[in-house]
Amino acid sequence: RAHGRFFIGGNWKCNGTVESVQSLIKELNEGSVPDAVDIVVAPTFVHLDMVKRELKGPFQLGAQDCWVGKGGAFTGEVSAEMLHDFGIPWVILGHSERRSLCREDDELVGQKCEYALSQGLKVIGCIGETLEQRESGKMFDVLDSQLRAIVNHTSLSNWDNMVVAYEPVWAIGTGVVASPEQAQEAHAYVRKWIADNVSPEVAASLRLLYGGSVNESNCGTLANLEDVDGFLVGGASLKGSSFINICNAEN
Ligand code: PEP
Repeated sequence: RAHGRFFIGGNWKCNGTVESVQSLIKELNEGSVPDAVDIVVAPTFVHLDMVKRELKGPFQLGAQDCWVGKGGAFTGEVSAEMLHDFGIPWVILGHSERRSLCREDDELVGQKCEYALSQGLKVIGCIGETLEQRESGKMFDVLDSQLRAIVNHTSLSNWDNMVVAYEPVWAIGTGVVASPEQAQEAHAYVRKWIADNVSPEVAASLRLLYGGSVNESNCGTLANLEDVDGFLVGGASLKGSSFINICNAEN
């Protein structure tokens, strides 16, 4: 592949019971996935320990968020150093649900990326425009400012530990997947932006994930696009067989 190993993230969001998580773990452990793909699943904080004990390689683990700085008197939060200490390698930051429902702004997301990277975590940084922003012609401005805040806080040496997920908000959980043209247009824009504003080398090796209503039927076409290097999957990651099929999207 042009930009490194294919990458699949599964964002379980705020879902799961002990029973449902156990059966998902079983389905994943029994599934067959290619060696050449990096796969990261992100359960809730409550379920991380159980999944860590029971889910076998090649699946890696991620958290869905973490606190912006060092832990302490921040009731309800989980810090990056705790995740690292506990053996969780990845964290999703800047997901659109946190941006909109928890009012995380670009600057906070940039700071979170910086702190998580400084503590040895790898980051799936999420960006993407709303339907209103797209329809009013602001899509590229929105991507610019979301990327700018992340870039301002991420030193060159840290880009090996970042992947970026382009997730148009209008496609998340809606069943409306971006068309191949829309996905490729946004991904090519992001890659060029990174080449111009970070470096051509980082842009060439950076994995850009698409997220938003990816399922086992649409993943094959999207996986063939030049600038799509993987997926961040929400709903379909909760069903073992679907997620396993998505992990095999390139085949
Ligand atoms: C997500 O939450 O990152 C996501 C892409 O969700 P879904 O696949 O359900 O649209």
